[in-house]
Amino acid sequence: MPKYYEIPELPGRKFFRCEPLRASITIEECGRRWHSGNMRGGPSAKSDDVSASPDASMRCLTCKGCAVGARHAGVQSANLSYLKGATICGRCHQGCTRLIGKHLCVSCYNRQREYLLGKNAKGTKPVKLATLQRRTITYLSAGQLRTKTLEHSVDMDELIVTVLRDEPHGLKFVPTLPPNFLAIRALEGA
Ligand SMILES: [Zn+2]
Repeated sequence: MPKYYEIPELPGRKFFRCEPLRASITIEECGRRWHSGNMRGGPSAKSDDVSASPDASMRCLTCKGCAVGARHAGVQSANLSYLKGATICGRCHQGCTRLIGKHLCVSCYNRQREYLLGKNAKGTKPVKLATLQRRTITYLSAGQLRTKTLEHSVDMDELIVTVLRDEPHGLKFVPTLPPNFLAIRALEGA
């Protein structure tokens, strides 16, 4: 916990020393920065945003994953991953301007469509894309055991990126357990 203090000239406003920013800021300012860093499509969404304004982007990236910032923003057990809310393709992990089905970039989406159709635009069998499979990942979040299943995925990284990007709460991945074990856990928790 940071140490808070007030300035006589500005009564009622609590300041603290923010080490990542190397500055003294108020709790409100801190919470605002955390929120702006965590907006979907925020500064982390595209790598060229960083070159456009390196200073501002670095600041927001710093705030985005900050536990102190999350607390000041009034968000309990937030997902502090830098991927959270980013417009990043789950499969190729590239930042993009929009996600199709909230998951894939246009390029990966088109390749998946070709794969599923069994041919590409030239009518030949697509060779570039790895085999798509149904995969499930298990994680603990907000005190609950949850699973995420993707009908089509190329690897487990795709599921990890997806969960880190989309899950609002802090989480921990756990080894995937057999379904009957999960059913028993659910009964115990009821
Ligand atoms: Zn992609």
